[in-house]
Amino acid sequence: MGLKNFFNTELKCSICGKTLKSGDEITAYLTLPSVKKMPVGRMDKVLSKHSDKVCCKKCSE
Ligand SMILES: [Zn+2]
Repeated sequence: MGLKNFFNTELKCSICGKTLKSGDEITAYLTLPSVKKMPVGRMDKVLSKHSDKVCCKKCSE
C-alpha cells in the first residue's frame, strides 16, 4: 500500500454513502479496543478502519 493511498482513505456515511470531510458533523459507532490495540493516528483513518458505523449528521437525526 502506497503512502498516497494511506492518506487518502475516504470516510463515508454508512447509510447514504456521502463522503465525509473536514467540518462535517458525524456520528460514529465504535467498539472500544483493548488498550494494547488502541488505535492511534489520523482520526479519519482510525474511524474508517475501526468504526462499526459512521453516519453523517443528516442520517443520524
Ligand atoms: Zn448519511
